[in-house]
Amino acid sequence: GGKHGKLQPVDLSHHINAKSKARHPSPLKDIIRFMGQEGMISLAGGLPHPSLFPLERAKFDVLSPSALNSSHTEGGRAAGLSTLDLGRGDSSNGLDLTRFLQYGSGCGDREVIELATELTERVHSPPAAYECLLHPGNTNAWSKVVGLLCEDNDYVVVDEFTYPSAQALWIPVGIRAAPVQADADGLSATGLRDLLENWDESGRGARRPRVIYLVSVGSNPTGISISNRRRKDIYDVCVQFDLIIVEDDPYYFLQYPPYTPAPDRAAPQTQTTTEFLSALTPSFTSIDSQGRVIRLESFSKTVFPGLRLGYFIANPVFTERLLRATEVETQDPAGLSQAFVLALFQQWGMDGYFTWLQNLQCQYRQRRDWLLDAFHEHFAVVPASESPVPSSQGLVVCIPGKAGGTALRPVFRFVEPGAGMFVWSTFLFEDVRRFQQIKQSASQEDPEQAFAQELWMAMADDLVLLTPGSYYHPWQGADMVTTKARGAAPDSAHFRFSFASPTEEQIHEGVRRMRKVIERYWGAEA
Ligand code: PLP
Ligand code: PMP
Repeated sequence: GGKHGKLQPVDLSHHINAKSKARHPSPLKDIIRFMGQEGMISLAGGLPHPSLFPLERAKFDVLSPSALNSSHTEGGRAAGLSTLDLGRGDSSNGLDLTRFLQYGSGCGDREVIELATELTERVHSPPAAYECLLHPGNTNAWSKVVGLLCEDNDYVVVDEFTYPSAQALWIPVGIRAAPVQADADGLSATGLRDLLENWDESGRGARRPRVIYLVSVGSNPTGISISNRRRKDIYDVCVQFDLIIVEDDPYYFLQYPPYTPAPDRAAPQTQTTTEFLSALTPSFTSIDSQGRVIRLESFSKTVFPGLRLGYFIANPVFTERLLRATEVETQDPAGLSQAFVLALFQQWGMDGYFTWLQNLQCQYRQRRDWLLDAFHEHFAVVPASESPVPSSQGLVVCIPGKAGGTALRPVFRFVEPGAGMFVWSTFLFEDVRRFQQIKQSASQEDPEQAFAQELWMAMADDLVLLTPGSYYHPWQGADMVTTKARGAAPDSAHFRFSFASPTEEQIHEGVRRMRKVIERYWGAEA
């Protein structure tokens, strides 16, 4: 796919690890070619006979692409369904289901791959030649990429806070994280260069990292998107030090305009597809002139997670090896999911899908706004630069000073997310009497995490749940878990707020309950 007028990727085959190099094509897949030959009587195949499958017809009632448009919905979704009707052979109105019930070649259905390629061209228009290969969601896709590129005991470059499943995968094989700090524009390119330039191979007991894992838009957990300018800088460093960029980007289409407080907030304007697409921040894939980006695309956040369907966009030298892994690990993604997605796109059209995404974006933007509204309603929110704990970026959530004093007391710092489903917070413990007590007890090795755990539990007792920031700490080995050992900022810890699923009322009530707990701890006389 996508080879016309494209740059030839540079040779990156030296990145393929020893295990992946040693993979042979599955011999069973080779013979399929002969089975299709004119006049061939195959006594060879092990395919089950399609007349013996117990499924005859599948009907799916689906929403229209504009069903989420806030101007004509009540309680979220407009009425009006259309039916995707998939039958077998002659009974089929469109797609013949039989093709999706049988074993496939491993790369996925040809038409679904064409769809993935068309989406890739419309959205990312990659400068270098690439291929799309289907996979069952980014979780498994990342596992295949680690199986392609990493050796045991390697380091992988990650954000300072990163998606835990990505790390949990490699802890058993001794892979560790090499974290790079980030600011409101995303991972620091200078920090990345410093890390790689000063890599001490014998001190670390491992070669310089060759892979960087990034959740580049609306990161899980930080909510931060890598800015356009920063992407170019990161890409240049990756060229200089020969890194492969793995872009795990499930929140890409959930990009929002800056937050405006409720009274001044304009209703979202409907955009044309061209306006919608051109407002999206360019992906690493879209600037990848060398073929060193492996992009993981997933329908989990745009259609639904139970599909277990997505695709790689990558240099053919990588998709060839990823296909070898696919043949023996997962085969084609589930046929019914492929059939559903193809039928949905036939019903909606590609522009219909972009309309769906645009409305989806508005829905999640609204949820982001509800959470930030609740912060403003229940706390004093001040720019970090003017706060009691001056810092250059973000906002600080404060409670009023004690005993009628005018000074605000800082509680947590955050950056307004321009994408995704999360607000990442840095709680500031310095003023908290209970924290100081814990810190003074000689037996406490990690007072920050001990107090964070107590605070988290106190909130849970009051029926409001946040995700502990410790879930997202980079895994650097069992001896690098305490705040001190990690070299993390003292007197603080993190929590992740998700605005993806609660209602507006639940968000407001949750933040109100949180404030009560905070008042108890932050309000106590020091
Ligand atoms: N990667 C990141 C960064 C995620 O946040 C998630 C889910 O939220 C996933 C991967 C899982 O994606 P999938 O459902 O495609 O496996
Ligand atoms: N389970 C799986 C398999 C997921 O991919 C996700 C989303 N990343 C979740 C659960 C939800 O996890 P979280 O709330 O940490 O994003």
